[in-house]
Amino acid sequence: MPSQAAGNRLVGIIARRSQSEFFMKVPLCSLDFLERAETVYPDRIAVVDEPAQPATPLSQLTYAQLGQRVRALSAGLDALDIAQGARIAVVSHNSARLLELLYSVPAFGRIFVPINFRLKPGEIEYIVNHCGAEMLLVDPELAEVVSGLKVKHRLVLGEESDRLHRFDSEPRPWQPDEDATATINYTSGTTAMPKGVQITHRNIWSNASTFGWHLGINDRDIYLHTLPMFHCNGWGMPFALAGMGAGQIVLRQVDGPEILRRIERHGVTVLCGAPAVANIILDAAESWDGPIPGSGRVRMVVAGAAPPTRTLERMETVLGWEVCQIYGLTETSPLLTINRPRGEWDDLSPSERAQKLNRAGAPVIGARLRSDESGEICARSNVIMQGYWEQPEATAEAIRDGWFHTGDGGVVDDEGYVHIQDRKKDVIISGGENVSSIEVEDVLFTHPAISEVAVIGVPDEKWGETVKALVVSAGEVSERELIDYCRERLAHYKCPTSIEFRSELARTATGKLQKFKLREPYWKDMDRQVN
Ligand code: AMP
Repeated sequence: MPSQAAGNRLVGIIARRSQSEFFMKVPLCSLDFLERAETVYPDRIAVVDEPAQPATPLSQLTYAQLGQRVRALSAGLDALDIAQGARIAVVSHNSARLLELLYSVPAFGRIFVPINFRLKPGEIEYIVNHCGAEMLLVDPELAEVVSGLKVKHRLVLGEESDRLHRFDSEPRPWQPDEDATATINYTSGTTAMPKGVQITHRNIWSNASTFGWHLGINDRDIYLHTLPMFHCNGWGMPFALAGMGAGQIVLRQVDGPEILRRIERHGVTVLCGAPAVANIILDAAESWDGPIPGSGRVRMVVAGAAPPTRTLERMETVLGWEVCQIYGLTETSPLLTINRPRGEWDDLSPSERAQKLNRAGAPVIGARLRSDESGEICARSNVIMQGYWEQPEATAEAIRDGWFHTGDGGVVDDEGYVHIQDRKKDVIISGGENVSSIEVEDVLFTHPAISEVAVIGVPDEKWGETVKALVVSAGEVSERELIDYCRERLAHYKCPTSIEFRSELARTATGKLQKFKLREPYWKDMDRQVN
């Protein structure tokens, strides 16, 4: 018989061994989602490419074919000696090839940098240089836009980029690390230049699994890519969808009647978009002949800005779709909250239900949200970014005391639902795209006739908010000239749609612009200060 002490030692050894030797922690990796589809649903149609595009479309691919292309692409990057950790930037409209890159680049340890295709050459150049991209892939229609850019490898998506694929070799294995950066998504915020949000494999995993669960993504779903894939990796939906073997229909350009036609043709069940997209679909429904496609079947996720209650109600009454609101940021991968019609609301009228849905939503599993002393919404979750690429100070400002500071002002109600009421950050959201006021002010300031400028967001029926510049001019210049001046230098959606000339602008005693005072007259009849 072993002595009591020896027995205790043995138990101790086994406990230690079981911790060190038997404990299994499999790194969460973005490839997990596609790998499951390849194993379980190899013959399913994974993606139907956009037929009307400048490159030869890929037509349709099964999950087995998509998986093969994804691996062949990574093997091709190996052949070019593009190391793990290298950044691969892409400027493209939605396409099957863009989707393929989203699955392929991070899966074998490189970092994917999808860039907004609406940006001007100088804006794209800033991002490509800032992230130190080794390769830039570009939509054929945008090839001219980036022709002057210096980058080691530049390829046009289509036949040229397809030559990268190496179907005869396997990609170099990557030792998966769930904390490695998978993507860098540039977002306009409080600074003049956009910041690169580092999203890790773990972030992707948490976002995709909670999003998929809350939305009930399943193997019968067919998703329409109305949302630009560059925007926070299509909100991470491509991962959630692949995990369940759901089909994906690519849409290159948002167009109301075409969205309805594709929903009908492909039996679409899910789509995502900004409130402006929901309104475009509602407009198309007005002149649609016959029953609305997807009625009683489609669920549409709306976010990026607060949808008007009337839009939410009409989505139910005019389209017959289920509408869910979510809230989040690029910095949060993005999913923080969801507001999906609950069982308790079944007996409400559509207008009462729309009132309930007109809140950003309740925290998703694993997210904790609170409104701090200043009324700013703060979040804790596994979807919070790793940081801003090469901007440790901006990261430290955003993530403080274990909480991510969203820059959105709001409250959490008694049911735990978040209401977004205003914005602490100087950002305008027009049609779901973020515009940094400072960036637009900086451009206007370079015009010789401008002595003072303040750029603000004002309510707009179609876009939620639109950009307005208040200027004090030192010389002769017209509103049209100033708008055109901005359009030459900035993406169209960032440019003012109106300019007002003032003799002075409201400032504090220390000379700081009082934006809230300047905004006041335009927002005074609204129940919240953002749209
Ligand atoms: P982005 O990083 O481009 O996704 O923009 C994130 C910002 O969009 C947030 O900080 C909010 O200001 C805004 N936003 C996103 N979803 C909502 C929502 N459901 N309601 C109100 N604002 C939203």
